[in-house]
Amino acid sequence: NMMNAKELFMNGEFITADKGMISVRTHAFAYGTGCFEGIRGYWNEEEQQVYLFRLREHYERLLRSCKILHIHLPYTVEQLIDISTELVRRNGQREDVYLRPVAYKGDQIIGVTLQGLHDEYILTSEPLGNYVEITGLRCGVSSWRRIDDNAMPARAKICGSYVNAAFAKSDALQNGFDEAIMLTHEGNVSEGSAENIFLYSDGEFITPSPTENILLGITRDTAMRLAEHELGIPTRERQVDRTELYLADEIFLCGTGAQIAPVIEIDHRPVGSGKVGPVVRKLQELYFDIVRGKHPEYSPQWCTPVYPK
Ligand code: PMP
Repeated sequence: NMMNAKELFMNGEFITADKGMISVRTHAFAYGTGCFEGIRGYWNEEEQQVYLFRLREHYERLLRSCKILHIHLPYTVEQLIDISTELVRRNGQREDVYLRPVAYKGDQIIGVTLQGLHDEYILTSEPLGNYVEITGLRCGVSSWRRIDDNAMPARAKICGSYVNAAFAKSDALQNGFDEAIMLTHEGNVSEGSAENIFLYSDGEFITPSPTENILLGITRDTAMRLAEHELGIPTRERQVDRTELYLADEIFLCGTGAQIAPVIEIDHRPVGSGKVGPVVRKLQELYFDIVRGKHPEYSPQWCTPVYPK
């Protein structure tokens, strides 16, 4: 049921979804020269409303990724937000949705330069449930290292970078794990294939700092704020050793897709008791309340309604 939306947005207009096609010669297809976002919308049954979560932050990040890739979009953040709500309305979607904006090099040329090419923009909105299991993940540290800032900047959400994620995730699944944890070239903990990672140890959260080749996740930011202001637990951003994973009391992965996903096992060692811990459970409950538009303090600032109130 993934691809049943009626319309999508492509280069300035809303078109029928099955008309959304690109040429086989497209630069971004051959070379991965695009960047994208993944945004969730949550259906709120009582209010008969779809709320899009932290749209502004997603589009600000998209524009930062564009800047790194020499992509120039003819839209402001406000316009990108308006296109998003309009697309969900046009599709009449009254369910959980996943929005995928992609900005990319649309030229049909051979050659890998980034400058002097023309840029295209598409946005799709599809129904989506859980991306990973949220009742307890078994993870393995990957033999695939995280891409480095000077080779393929992880700070930008670049299409081609996801080959790195795909190697790690596929390997993890084939080895019987649910998800991969990747290390940097120095051997420090970086992140999951499409999630940031948090450890809970000795009463505080620990997460790899922005210089550890992570994508600066919006869910990561959300988790840090909620931990501090709602649970009274500070987060330290620092280098994290692999073996710290084995000794943490609790661990979770987080991302737009994964949401807040507790980790119960790493490299065949139970995390804490081997069951979902109380602190991560609390954070998860809070998160689901907020994204669905049910939290009086956070929801109004972070959740954009799709339908007129
Ligand atoms: N790291 C990577 C590599 C990702 O692909 C994602 C998903 N966008 C994340 C972290 C989490 O980022 P966010 O919370 O902004 O979705």
